[in-house]
Amino acid sequence: MAPTLSLSSVLYAGYPDIHLSVDELLRHVVAAGFRNIEVSAWNQVEDWPLNELVEKCKVAGISIPSVHCTHHYDLDMVGRDYHQKPIGSRDREKVFREFHEEFYKDFEEAGLGGVIVVEHLPTSEKQLDLALRWLSALRDINQKHSFVIVTENMPGPKREEQLRVLRSLLAEEGIYYCHDINHAALAGFDPFDFVEFLPKLRNVHVVGNNPLIRFGDGVPPALGVVPMEGVLRKMIEGGYAGPFTLEIYGFERELAAVLRMSEAALTAVAPKRARQVCAASAGLDWRDVMVIYSRKYLERTLRK
Ligand SMILES: [Zn+2]
Repeated sequence: MAPTLSLSSVLYAGYPDIHLSVDELLRHVVAAGFRNIEVSAWNQVEDWPLNELVEKCKVAGISIPSVHCTHHYDLDMVGRDYHQKPIGSRDREKVFREFHEEFYKDFEEAGLGGVIVVEHLPTSEKQLDLALRWLSALRDINQKHSFVIVTENMPGPKREEQLRVLRSLLAEEGIYYCHDINHAALAGFDPFDFVEFLPKLRNVHVVGNNPLIRFGDGVPPALGVVPMEGVLRKMIEGGYAGPFTLEIYGFERELAAVLRMSEAALTAVAPKRARQVCAASAGLDWRDVMVIYSRKYLERTLRK
């Protein structure tokens, strides 16, 4: 069976300055040749018009294997409960539980039952107890539902500490793992450190890391210094059968600068090829150029 390629919506509706409508998002996704998306957001996944999103995905033939909740763990960043009310001095763990009870219910009612829910949790030892309590609460709430609760490695805590925390979290029954290749590089992981978590692996954020290119959080997988082909092959050989989710994102001005530099470099060494490339990508949105380039790279790499 061919591996499932999925595209995170964060590139099209991620940073506070990027807010495409559902129609615009799906137009880009279809044009870029993807058939699966991870619903993600810089702010709140639940800010999407859920029913509209699910309906229009169905019409466009797009599946949603996963959703990505980046800020749920930090109620100070969320700053409000599920009904937009400020949290104030209320019991935070109670608000957190209620928030997710309603969130999962709404997701299931919108027809998203069964998807992978990636919940960011702190991965420092200082906050291990909190992460364990909150993840277990999510897992327990989900006994009523059918979501797959996964947590993700983060860019912050360094390798040894973070691996210890992940071992504790993933030792829990019913809690699964999303490996973010860029976060792993930023935390100083060995690129193959994910191997010990393979039995728990349910999602992969495929994104390159390249200290020489400053592009938001991560670069297209082919442009990173991580041995991407080896990493992805090892996952497949290890029996991983979940989605490979392309999660590149960045600020437009940074990527525009990278594209201009690449264009200039290509023109200098191979003017004929540069003209062909520029003609082929003329009229394409800068994001689409990166996404199509990455999709082709992943299709080639994963087919081998
Ligand atoms: Zn990620």
